[in-house]
Amino acid sequence: MVFSSEGQAIKYHLRTPVITRRMLVWASALSVVAIVNIVGYLLVREYRNTEDDAARSALNIVQLISRDIRNTISIYDSALNSLVSLVQSQALASLSPQTQQPLLFDRAAEAPSNAGFFVLDADGKVIAGSRPVEPLLNNARQQSWFKVHLKGQNEGIFISRPLPASDAPNDWSLVLSRRITTPDGRFGGVAVALMKMSYFQNLFRGLDLGPTGNISLVSSEGIMLIQYPATTMFYTGQDLGHTPIFLRFLTERHGSFTAVSGIYHLQRLYNFAQVSELPLLVVVALSTEHIFSNWRHTALLIGSATLLLCLGLLWLTWLLVRELRLRQRAEGELAALAATDPLTGLANRRMLDKTLDLEWRRAQRTGAPLSLIMIDIDHFKPFNDAYGHQAGDEALRQVARVIKANVRRPADLVARYGGEEFAVVLTETDAAGTRLLAEKIRAAVEQMEPVDPTTKKLTVSLGACTRYAKPGDDREELLSTADKALYQAKKRGRNRVMDINETGLNALKPKNET
Ligand code: GH3
Ligand code: MG
Ligand code: MG
Repeated sequence: MVFSSEGQAIKYHLRTPVITRRMLVWASALSVVAIVNIVGYLLVREYRNTEDDAARSALNIVQLISRDIRNTISIYDSALNSLVSLVQSQALASLSPQTQQPLLFDRAAEAPSNAGFFVLDADGKVIAGSRPVEPLLNNARQQSWFKVHLKGQNEGIFISRPLPASDAPNDWSLVLSRRITTPDGRFGGVAVALMKMSYFQNLFRGLDLGPTGNISLVSSEGIMLIQYPATTMFYTGQDLGHTPIFLRFLTERHGSFTAVSGIYHLQRLYNFAQVSELPLLVVVALSTEHIFSNWRHTALLIGSATLLLCLGLLWLTWLLVRELRLRQRAEGELAALAATDPLTGLANRRMLDKTLDLEWRRAQRTGAPLSLIMIDIDHFKPFNDAYGHQAGDEALRQVARVIKANVRRPADLVARYGGEEFAVVLTETDAAGTRLLAEKIRAAVEQMEPVDPTTKKLTVSLGACTRYAKPGDDREELLSTADKALYQAKKRGRNRVMDINETGLNALKPKNET
């Protein structure tokens, strides 16, 4: 901040750099926020795209596998249907069992991975089969695939849980069954097809689902039929219907979602769909860590680069703000130097002109009085001649200090007008107040100790002027009138105050003058 004389601040042109600095800080803060937002938005969008792409490919796999399973089951179903029709029609009744055999099981060969087609009577006894009777069909009346038809609970094809086909490990089969109804509508037994679970293993083999990714086939009751690649966590026949993730498959039937697997304790993306109208669900589960590994790498790179960019931007802003502050301070100091008289430290003539101009215009606007006191040291030339310039300079400094000490209001200005002349600008001060202050200054100078014991005491003459400036008035008139009053003070014997205001010329005699 520039000062005109002690205690007096000039704020006019210095507000701009402060605003510029604030704007700079705000602009860079906003830029950082914008950069962070844009980068964040792009990364989130990229994350979603990655997730969508992974879900789309997984769902495509689910659809292809479902279609294959549906086609295979429908081959089984149509073979069972034709078996049921033939048995129900009694068309083959007249033929011998040897002749019946190829006719009944003609279509059985079309069903891939089948372990035989069989006809069981109402008591659960195998009465015909495309192969030797399997142990799996023993105790048929106790088995779900038989009971469901016996009770008439299923009109279509029934698919059993996976059942162990033999004692060999991993030898599982599904039993697919259809009801045989006698011509009079009673239960006449069931047509049964055994489907080896190896069919699904062959179907899934070769699918690459990434680390910890897998594909599963589950029944709508939540029974695990098969999982590929095989893990020790899940096994064929396991009931998973109670786990939260499987409950979601069973209720939603198709879709995809991300969840933390309670078994793997990893986040996985689950994609699943029901196989047509069948009570089967295909589930492809992928590891999100694997899906997002590329994204994570990119996010880390872009995130670090953004962080560096933002830090760089903030650092540059800080440097710039610091530089601006230093420049502003330097400019302030320069301006202060340019406004100060080097000998006395008071405001100089330039500053006086500037202040007068400003205050004159302010007074014109507000209608407040503006006063000027011109002060001139009496007989200073002889003083200089007698004691030398150094003593003269010290005397000037001393008088300046005394004047300054008597002008206390911050808005007032004390300036060195030139040589041994001083000027005091008093804002919002009427003629009486001005006169009092002028007299105070005069008396104070008179009371001043001499510069050194050998020198004479000094006095000053003062000319004051008070004006109520109106629009169109010239401020030079204030100066010249104060000068005139000073001239009058000199003329009337010096060491006195004269003022000229609306009431004309007034003299204020020194107290000691009689
Ligand atoms: P008067 O009472 O009529 O004002 O008489 P005066 O001698 O004071 O007036 P004059 O204008 O004749 O002299 C002014 C003198 O002030 C001239 C010069 O010697 C002295 N002076 C002006 N500026 C400086 C300065 O910067 N330093 C010193 N030491 N003296 C100065
Ligand atoms: Mg003079
Ligand atoms: Mg003089």
